[in-house]
Amino acid sequence: MLFARSCTPEHTRRAAPVLRDLCLASRALFIELAEQTGNSFELRTEGLLNLCKTAEGLDHEANGLARLTNEVGVEARVLDRNETAAMEPGVEIDVAGSVYFPIDAHLTPSKFVSTLVALLRQQGVAFRWNTSIAGGRHDGQRVTALRTSAGEIEAAEYVIATGSWAAETVRDLALRLPMQPGKGYSLTIE
Ligand SMILES: Cc1cc2nc3c(=O)[nH]c(=O)nc-3n(C[C@H](O)[C@H](O)[C@H](O)COP(=O)(O)OP(=O)(O)OC[C@H]3O[C@@H](n4cnc5c(N)ncnc54)[C@H](O)[C@@H]3O)c2cc1C
Repeated sequence: MLFARSCTPEHTRRAAPVLRDLCLASRALFIELAEQTGNSFELRTEGLLNLCKTAEGLDHEANGLARLTNEVGVEARVLDRNETAAMEPGVEIDVAGSVYFPIDAHLTPSKFVSTLVALLRQQGVAFRWNTSIAGGRHDGQRVTALRTSAGEIEAAEYVIATGSWAAETVRDLALRLPMQPGKGYSLTIE
């Protein structure tokens, strides 16, 4: 119900600038990290193409995501079939068109994670691999300990970063995160 009630144009208009600022700040940090590490994780800031197979699909993208993106000041360019093909010379593209987001970027996640692990190790971070959080203790004000498969861990501060499992992770810490996981599929090819 909470999710359904939040799905309004007004809520989208309020959330979009916040998400834009988060994304732009995140992008700037990725660029900074790439410069620091000789771009070991193959960051490429050449934009993103959303390909649309049908005219209806292109129309939907142009009037939906692309329009909203432009409204918050982030460029989204609607390209026809020929303009799309010109962006990927040498590839036969069978589409009605695309939406091009010039500011988008991508990287190689496995290389990014290993770069991050190495950097954090240098800064004295200890990793406990294959250790799961099974809950924790709190005193009504603060989290006092985390219960893990390798025993309890006490710390001055805790950062919960368990993604779509976060609501489950904090359940017995007297915290409620109204978060609903989505579902996606991906295929990684050379
Ligand atoms: C198919 C697919 C494709 C995607 N493609 C893109 C893309 O192209 N670009 C993009 O920007 N984003 C993409 N995303 C979204 C992106 O993957 C997520 O937004 C991002 O991974 C979230 O990061 P996170 O660190 O918050 O959580 P996660 O990456 O989910 O990490 C959470 C971690 O917590 C661990 N964990 C959970 N519960 C516990 C527990 N009790 N104890 C210990 N550990 C626990 C999990 O094992 C996991 O390793 C995609 C997502 C999917 C599913």
